[in-house]
Amino acid sequence: MKLLEDRIREEGTVKPGDVLKVDAFLNHQCDVALFDAMGEEWARLFEGTQIDKILTIEASGIGIACVAARHFGNVPVVFAKKAQSINLDGDQYSTSIYSFTKQKEFPVIVAKKFLNEGEHVLIIDDFLANGNALNGLLKICETAGVVVEGFGIAVEKGFQGGGDALRNRGYRVESLANVRTMDAETGSIEFN
Ligand code: 5GP
Repeated sequence: MKLLEDRIREEGTVKPGDVLKVDAFLNHQCDVALFDAMGEEWARLFEGTQIDKILTIEASGIGIACVAARHFGNVPVVFAKKAQSINLDGDQYSTSIYSFTKQKEFPVIVAKKFLNEGEHVLIIDDFLANGNALNGLLKICETAGVVVEGFGIAVEKGFQGGGDALRNRGYRVESLANVRTMDAETGSIEFN
């Protein structure tokens, strides 16, 4: 999506450790008009696909998922919560996710009542790097027995392989910007 790629080129910064900072419009300050255009584009890409619910993960996924939901008939948005500890009371699906940016493992939970067997779910997130976050959400979806129709990703860092691993498993992954290379020293960013 040219609009997003241009914005990343203009305002994104490349940090050491393969981290792309886009906090001017996506991760801290939010450009809602851009989110709206992203939602419109995902709706175009997934046109004709049954989507009953959008699933994301806090925190940065929530804003883009909620704006996107407006383009999917106002379907509910459920976000996986990062928990302090896993409370095994039987009311929650839980899994553990390794965080690329924080470099540690953390538990995430979704209340069972918000994911119903047989529902068709679109998973949305801001970044796809190695795929740990999305694989955690997939595990929860598998346990819940929902149908994962695909993934809507704002920025995929293609060189980290998480997206292609999901595609090789047969999942539909629609990334609006897919970074082929980026360089912290020169600041250059190239897209697929
Ligand atoms: P993964 O689990 O696919 O390795 O990483 C995805 C998660 O890590 C995203 O939800 C995002 O929060 C964070 N992340 C990974 N790479 C980046 C990055 O380059 N920039 C930012 N801002 N977040 C990232």
